[in-house]
Amino acid sequence: MIPDLERLIALQQADADAAEARRHIAAHPGLVKAADARLAAATTALDAAQLALKTSHDERRELEKEAALFQGRLTKYKDQQGAVKTNREFQALGHEIETATTELGGVEEREIAKMVEADGLTAAVKAAETALAAQKKDVDAEKALLGQALQNHEARLQAAAEARAGIIGHISAPTLSLYEQVAKARKGIGVSAAVDGLCTTCHVRLRPHIYQQVRTNNAVIQCDSCQRILFYVAPPAAVEPGQPAATAS
Ligand SMILES: [Zn+2]
Repeated sequence: MIPDLERLIALQQADADAAEARRHIAAHPGLVKAADARLAAATTALDAAQLALKTSHDERRELEKEAALFQGRLTKYKDQQGAVKTNREFQALGHEIETATTELGGVEEREIAKMVEADGLTAAVKAAETALAAQKKDVDAEKALLGQALQNHEARLQAAAEARAGIIGHISAPTLSLYEQVAKARKGIGVSAAVDGLCTTCHVRLRPHIYQQVRTNNAVIQCDSCQRILFYVAPPAAVEPGQPAATAS
């Protein structure tokens, strides 16, 4: 294989490495944000559970005040009943006492319901606290991994840039320029392996005389279809049992 082709393959590898590292680096902030969003959701859930419990407590306090009011009223009516002069006044107060007792009973029932509700809401707050703590642990661990991965991708990008810098000085100017031009136009891929008569990147069959030339690996030849610079890779020996394995002569 001519040196230019060998170096182009190495350059393509470095460029592909750099592109993948850049993709990961670009995705990093989004992944951190998604982890933060999960934590924020768990915090919001706990806030909501705590608010529901507080509201329930406040409502119970109100009911207690209401009950005290009716109890005060009952005490007053009973005192008055002891002081009235006529049977009619006594009966009227009796009616008031009956009404206040019924109303007090209703309030007390609602108080009991609130106590039962508070038990459920307290359990919900505890569950939300547990979920938040678990989520925090999870998110902390994920962020540590993401930070480590980011460092790795940055190191990989740096290594790829150094590899590229080391290679390009050793490729002939026209070949390098052709590679850069094709790679720019073709999603960063400027070279392509030819296997079994096909360009493995665009999957178009090469014309036989082109493929014959490519098989020698001693010239810079472009795919007719995608324009990428082709190099030959021998198919696995097992494809043709009993035959000598083809070589990239
Ligand atoms: Zn092609």
